[in-house]
Order: sequence, then structure tokens, then C-alpha cells
Amino acid sequence: GKLGIALLGLGKYSTGQLAPALQETQNCYLAGIITGSPEKADKWKNQYDIPDKNVYSYENFDQIKDNPAIDIVYVVTPNALHREFVVRAAQAKKHVICEKPMATTVEDCQAMIEACKQNNVQLSVGYRLHFEPHNQRVMELGQKAVFGPVKSIKAADSFKISVEPDDWRLNKQLAGGGPLMDVGIYCVQGVMYTLGQEPIAITAKFGENTRPDYFKTVEQSISWQMQFKGGLIAECVSSYNDEAGMLYGEAQNGWWRLDPAYSYAGITGETSQGKMDFEEVNQQARQMDNFADCVRHNKPTPVPGQMGLRDVKILLAIYEAAQTNKKVGV
Ligand code: NAD
Repeated sequence: GKLGIALLGLGKYSTGQLAPALQETQNCYLAGIITGSPEKADKWKNQYDIPDKNVYSYENFDQIKDNPAIDIVYVVTPNALHREFVVRAAQAKKHVICEKPMATTVEDCQAMIEACKQNNVQLSVGYRLHFEPHNQRVMELGQKAVFGPVKSIKAADSFKISVEPDDWRLNKQLAGGGPLMDVGIYCVQGVMYTLGQEPIAITAKFGENTRPDYFKTVEQSISWQMQFKGGLIAECVSSYNDEAGMLYGEAQNGWWRLDPAYSYAGITGETSQGKMDFEEVNQQARQMDNFADCVRHNKPTPVPGQMGLRDVKILLAIYEAAQTNKKVGV
């Protein structure tokens, strides 16, 4: 049968993307929920036919240990809370998917990886684009040097944020930072999966803050460069005050461009040889089906906690470079 997934944190992403995707999955299904809000629990129970026994609060969540209907817990809370819930899920012997960014500190990521290891459960990060055909093609074009060695990479991911001033995304304590942590992470990922390499050094600069009353503790925008062995320097930008979603690569004998590159739907790609021709897929359904398959057959996930940790280290190096105005080694 299908593995049972319980979503923890029923905000916009769980409601708008993950629960609908779980209606299309083959290897797993929406078996349970963990929520701080009893009204949401009632609504979800009705909408998705979830039995009372598979509904938990943050207080009684640890009892999920005794529930064989739940195989996987998917943590979809504000970033700084991922650690607590991932560790509790692991201690309840449940496999875990954690949303991106994995956490807001390196220490948190390490504690999460360690808890999953100790409890013999798998840990993956919600990196849906690893299961998206246009992005997969870019991995191939870059990593296999289809057009020769890569010479240049540019990436941008920005949106005009319109949340209430007290939203967690504007609160450094809960978010770890602004657009870089939220969507700039896709540029960091895109650059690295184009090359199949990690950067050796970072330079970065915060953009001007045009709304200091609104962006009080997180940056409004940031641009950064990722330097690689051999000299390539990838150029990236991320903002809460712009609209962009692009991943560009240029190699010796050709180029490619995804635009939009990171959206849930409508990803479009072109290369120097013409338009990319891939079907639209449900990224989240593919991502969760892949993880369920890894759990079932005890295979390593392509998007493990170690990758989440690697990326958090780079995000923090980008902030350090912007704060110190110095090149930071990674
Ligand atoms: P959201 O604000 O819509 O939802 C957050 C949920 O967490 C809410 O249900 C809220 O009630 C709950 N929560 C629990 N404790 C909380 C606290 N102390 N403060 C605030 N909320 C608390 O956010 P979202 O957009 O659903 O994002 C949740 C996570 O998913 C984040 O880590 C985000 O980066 C990630 N995300 C990933 C993608 C993706 O494409 N992979 C897209 C959107 C969000």
C-alpha cells in the first residue's frame, strides 16, 4: 500500500500545494495532520477524509510514535521551527521531509541530521525542483558539459512580498533572513546543480532598503557572487521588491535559459538549439513519491539533509560577505 504522510503546519504551502499534490501521488497519501489550530483540523478532516486518530496538535504530536498509519512527517512551519519538529518526528521514528531552507543555523541542521541518524529514519529537504524536467535538463547540460565547459551562470529569484508586517517572513528570528533564505536559495541551488560543484568563495552586497519600517530585521534585497574552482563566478540576485525567476547558463558552444525557472507551474526553457519541450509535471507529487520510494526501498534520497546543511552554510556565508563587505571562503 501507499505510505502515509502527515503534514505538520497547515499554512499556505501545505494548503495550496502539498495537500493537492498528495491527491496525485502514487507511493504515498495524505494520512494525517499536525496543527496548532482546531478549526483547521476540522476543515482538513472533512475535506480530506482524515480520521480523528491521525490528527495531532503540537502538544500531543509525540504520540504519533504509536501510530502505524503515519510513515512520514512533512515539516512545513516557519524556518526556525523546523529543527524542533524534525527532531521530534525522528524521535517518534518517523521519516521526515523538511521544507527549505532546512534551518536558520548550521547547528540546527546538524542536530536534525544527527537525530534522524540516531533514530534510523531518512531525512530529506523539500527541494521540488530536483524533480522538475527543465531543471533536470539544466543539471545535465551543465554537469555533462553538453555544450562544453560552463563559462557563465546568472540566477535571479524575486517577488513583491505583500504579507502583514508581523508575518514570520519579515522576522529574522523565525525566517533567518529575507528573500535570500526564502527564494534566493533557489538561485544558490540552481548554480550548484548547473555545475555539480560547490563554490569556494562568496562576495555579496545588500540592496537599498526603501521601506525600513516594513523590512525591519530582514534584507529587502541582496545580490551575491559564487566563485568556483577554475575561476567561474556566478551572479545572483534575490529581492522582496521585484518580480524575477531566472536561471541562465552559457557554455563554450551554447547557452540555456529557464524563465520562469522556479515556479510551481509554467516553467519554460530555451537553449541555443531551440525551445525545451517537456511536459508540465506536479513537482511536489514527484518529490514526495520519490521520497516514499526511497523510504520503502531503503535508498538514499537525492535531496538529503546533508544537502540542506550544505546550502544553509552557503546562505550564511552570503550574509557574512554582505555584512563584512569581504570575500568569504566556504
Ligand atoms: P505560512 O505562513 O503560510 O504557514 C506557516 C504555518 O506554520 C502556519 O500554518 C502557521 O500556523 C504555522 N506555525 C506554527 N508555529 C508558528 C509560529 N510560531 N509562527 C508562525 N507560524 C507558525 O508559510 P508557508 O508559505 O506555508 O511556509 C512554510 C514553510 O514552507 C517555510 O519553511 C517555507 O520556506 C516553506 N515553503 C516552501 C515552498 C517550496 O516551494 N518548497 C513554498 C512555500 C513555502
